[in-house]
Amino acid sequence: MSISTVKGTIDKEELKKTYVHEHLCIDLSHIKGDQDTNLNDIEGIIDELKNSTVNSIVEVTNIGMGRNIEVLKYISEKTGINIIPSTGFYKEPFLPKEIYEMDYKDIGRIIIREITEGIDDTNIKAHVIGEVGTSKDEIKPMELKVLQSAIYAHLETGHPIFTHTSLGTMALEQLNLFKKHNVNMSKVLIGHLDLRCDYDYHLTIADSGCYIGFDTIGKTNYEKDEVKIQHIKHLINRGHLNQIVLSQDITRKSHLKKHGGIGYDYITESFIPKALREGITEAQIEQILVENPKRLLEV
Ligand SMILES: [Zn+2]
Repeated sequence: MSISTVKGTIDKEELKKTYVHEHLCIDLSHIKGDQDTNLNDIEGIIDELKNSTVNSIVEVTNIGMGRNIEVLKYISEKTGINIIPSTGFYKEPFLPKEIYEMDYKDIGRIIIREITEGIDDTNIKAHVIGEVGTSKDEIKPMELKVLQSAIYAHLETGHPIFTHTSLGTMALEQLNLFKKHNVNMSKVLIGHLDLRCDYDYHLTIADSGCYIGFDTIGKTNYEKDEVKIQHIKHLINRGHLNQIVLSQDITRKSHLKKHGGIGYDYITESFIPKALREGITEAQIEQILVENPKRLLEV
């Protein structure tokens, strides 16, 4: 029962407060045409994280998104945070050209190699297959192929799959694909479901046994914190406490405090106090931030 991090393998009991879906080094500016989406203020990130109460971060930047494993190693060394790296491919239009002509097994073998041997000629092994994603209201042909490659790698290795949904859409279609191919649902995290707060939708997803990502906490232009908290409470009341996980999905320089943003500690500083006031208990927060990630990540 161990977890691969940039500083080597750790026991799952070393995970304390854990964010399941973050970016510490990501560059989508080549597609988005916006330098803000090149999150490269490494020292700024270190300054924020070295005083953070967060002890472990799943870094879901993968191939084609500007992943830089040496930078992640440096951030981990400077902050003491366990950084759990990822592999796989994201979604249209961020997929590298070379995979368009490949079949899903060949793509899957790239993922397997990063899990079993290492990333970019290092011996640092990827742990999570993610974030693998779909577009808003549709799964494009290449996205389907990438999801199939993720499934192939999951079935070979047992490692967890973390998905991206665009504004929370296509979660049921992702789950149907996983079920059809006998993916272990207790190793699946469906991401960004807090961007689509709908009680019945969340319950249907939870009934599959997967984890539910309230992983864009602080992005209040889509759903307010208070709405997200009511939806977390609803899932808890319906018996799904063990499937809820939290993160912030920071992707831009302007998300850092020094550039006017909310910073990586928004969950601790703002969201949890609000959740406690709304009746979620300390024990439930502990379950969501510590115990659920341990169970989800252990392989
Ligand atoms: Zn995402």
